[in-house]
Amino acid sequence: MKVMKFGGTSVGKPERMQEVAQLITKDSERKIVVLSALSGTTNALVEISNSLAIGDRSAAKQRIELLHEHYKNFIQQLLVTEAARNKAEGIIAEHFEFLQIILRISFSEALNKDILAQGELMSTKLFSAYLEEKGISHELLPALEFMTIDANEEPQLGSIKVKLAQLLKKHADKNILVTQGYICRNAKGEVDNLKRGGSDYTASLVAAASNCSVCEIWTDIDGMHNNDPRIVNKTVAIEQLSFDEAAELAYFGAKILHPTCIWPAQLENVPVRLLNTMQPEAHGTVITKEAGSVGVKAVAAKDGIIAIKIKSSRMLLAYGFLRKVFEVFEKYKTSIDMITTSEVAVSVTIDSDQFLPQIIKELEPFGTVEIEKEQTIVSIVGNEIAQTDHVLQKLFESLKEVPVTMVSYGGSHHNISLLVPGTFKTKTLQLLNSGLFGL
Ligand code: ADP
Ligand code: ASP
Ligand code: MG
Repeated sequence: MKVMKFGGTSVGKPERMQEVAQLITKDSERKIVVLSALSGTTNALVEISNSLAIGDRSAAKQRIELLHEHYKNFIQQLLVTEAARNKAEGIIAEHFEFLQIILRISFSEALNKDILAQGELMSTKLFSAYLEEKGISHELLPALEFMTIDANEEPQLGSIKVKLAQLLKKHADKNILVTQGYICRNAKGEVDNLKRGGSDYTASLVAAASNCSVCEIWTDIDGMHNNDPRIVNKTVAIEQLSFDEAAELAYFGAKILHPTCIWPAQLENVPVRLLNTMQPEAHGTVITKEAGSVGVKAVAAKDGIIAIKIKSSRMLLAYGFLRKVFEVFEKYKTSIDMITTSEVAVSVTIDSDQFLPQIIKELEPFGTVEIEKEQTIVSIVGNEIAQTDHVLQKLFESLKEVPVTMVSYGGSHHNISLLVPGTFKTKTLQLLNSGLFGL
């Protein structure tokens, strides 16, 4: 059995969705097909939710109507028979009735999650309608029946395994199982989600939970590239990455993968393949236990970073000082990405300002606290990168014009991270593309 996950652009146009149907029927291996919402839908739902949150019902109403029109047109182009079109319009109308109801009730965080779930619910139902019209036997597995997260928002792999196995057994006669990416239930039993881009995470969890031969992530590019193709002109696809390398790239900003989606596949040693829906014959990127080669493979950037420097000539070298600093971050469930220390200061970076005022307040008794917002972490990733000849030399030679404010080297075998002001991100990525890859 294998997982095939298709992202928003892969199902975002009727003809793309039809191509997906072809891709999943190419071989006879049993498969779980994980779908995202049609491209643009989750963004639209976020806008609707935001409008409601600030009490702007008319903006929300307008956006809902626009979205409904989009779905009606989509159905006309996706399906051929009148019967199938009517049925699909009825299904979609139910979701838009829900979106009309939310205009009349009070807004809450739980309602926000319900709104965000509509995209994946609709895309999977439309895809199922298309498969039905084509006479392709399949079953729709509701993700809300098996995909759960605990009170710390961590997926419950053990329970997912059990529930998914039951569903797969119940539909043992079906070769194609279709399910929603992104959506799940939380510890309170409410509808929730795995954060933006979370369909990749669903795919990896499902592949790990059902012991799949491979987890295929189908998207709009031919694999993981050596640099961010949205920012740098000339980038190339990487043939092979280890789980560790891919996890670092995803975590440090390579948008092609959800930040934490690698661990389930890695845990169960399920290879992950990144493939291009628009160029299905391309090799893509294979992610396995083995790295394939050593040396620098790619760079990625993570924005919105906050650097916190705690200066204290008196306390820093005192026994237990770092523990006390870390405890503050632990208390506010804020994870630290980078850390550097000198004799008189310790600097850390975080990617969320949710509890920043509280964190600063609790750090102040330890020394002077300085904050720099809008920073970017640029990560250089590759197997045994720290042992690669001249890597630091090349790095700093390429970045002569960039004010690097922190460097993290040696903490991991496959990552060197730099902190630069956000305004220098594009320049840094471009300079590294020529300096490290000769591109
Ligand atoms: P999907 O909708 O299929 O989940 P995403 O938009 O989430 O697709 O991810 C694919 C996009 O990720 C690509 O179109 C590309 O612009 C972007 N991207 C950013 N960094 C990289 C990288 N290093 N390699 C490949 N794609 C990247
Ligand atoms: N639809 C969700 C999003 O846009 C999840 C995903 O596509 O992976 O973030
Ligand atoms: Mg994505």
